[in-house]
Amino acid sequence: MGAVRNNKKKVLECIQNQGPINRAAIAKDVGISLPAVMSITNELEAKKIIRSAGFVSEGVGKHPELLEIRSDYFYYIGVDVGRLHLRGTVVGQDGREITKYTTETNHGENPEQCIEDICSVIQYVVEKAAIDNGNIVGVCVAMPGLIELGSGKVIFSPNFGWKNVPLQDILNKKLSPYKVIVRNANRAQARFELRPGAEYANKKVTVFCIGLGYGIGSATIINGNMYYGASGTSGEIGHITVMPNGPICTCGNTGCLEALSSGAAIEKQGKNIARMNPDSMLCHIVDNHLEKIDAKAVFRAAALNDVECVQIIDNAAKYIGIALAAAINILDPDIIYVCGGLTKNGSDFLEKIKKYTRARQMKFAGRHVKIIQGSQDDYNVAKGATLMIQDEGNMFEKLSFLY
Ligand SMILES: [Zn+2]
Repeated sequence: MGAVRNNKKKVLECIQNQGPINRAAIAKDVGISLPAVMSITNELEAKKIIRSAGFVSEGVGKHPELLEIRSDYFYYIGVDVGRLHLRGTVVGQDGREITKYTTETNHGENPEQCIEDICSVIQYVVEKAAIDNGNIVGVCVAMPGLIELGSGKVIFSPNFGWKNVPLQDILNKKLSPYKVIVRNANRAQARFELRPGAEYANKKVTVFCIGLGYGIGSATIINGNMYYGASGTSGEIGHITVMPNGPICTCGNTGCLEALSSGAAIEKQGKNIARMNPDSMLCHIVDNHLEKIDAKAVFRAAALNDVECVQIIDNAAKYIGIALAAAINILDPDIIYVCGGLTKNGSDFLEKIKKYTRARQMKFAGRHVKIIQGSQDDYNVAKGATLMIQDEGNMFEKLSFLY
């Protein structure tokens, strides 16, 4: 039975990645017989997950029927709990966005209120999507920090100050009958990079994905499979030491990458230099309202050649390079995706990160690794979360027939 179940998922993934596609091509791609494909595709059609996309019209002889993913039956809800923004989306089975919504994260430091806000975002997008509740497969909430494997408990989220918050249990109680899973935001981000139709989708690639935002995190996909670690907490690249005795970090340690190169760290360094230099370009950019200084303002001032801001950005890139070189030496990945809000401030930053990474990585190690700009879709984490629902379909009643 195991092999049969596996084939259903493979057929579905094949149609997702290559559809519209005919049954003979699916059989060839998945490596199973045509009758087996026919039996599986009949079931997928009956479950309303795929449908006919018409017949091939060109050529002589038989005109095979093409199959495609249905966009109008199964729906997935993804939520990105960022330190600055809370984003929710509803997507169809084909990945098409039905609706989306962003609000500011106003109560990040208060788990109870933040959970209320997460529930409000979910209720809002469901209403806005105007879909049948019975067609919602499930919800995946992506959150930064250490998330316990299985339980979806937030063990520790430094930027939110949360410790041991059973987020998945609470959300399942509050949002019943929807089934909710909680996953790490960087994993959702990495999953989005391998979304159906993406260049390396469904390939046996090893990917390291670093998320540079208000905080810093990462995720690793090994030979196409998400890597979690023994307890689910792998990927905390933001909290490796890059400067012993460096600035204090939200995790309690000192000199972490996050304390030097994150959006929060860049903002803090910008505010410090602005206080000492009221005539600087940075102060000018914010009309001397120093409380308005954020990482974006520091990037803008650097682009206008504010010497101290150039230095802040250059230092941030240097420490990121040190950390990525370590990741290359350890993992030898095919691809490094550099993602997150900080990468939306022009291509110079990525070029600097690449330069420092190459300078630090061991000679001959990771020679094939490509360092690429990740998706800049504001909803990449929320959409990646929806893909994780399908990946873990055995936990969701509506997808259990695939197993
Ligand atoms: Zn730290």
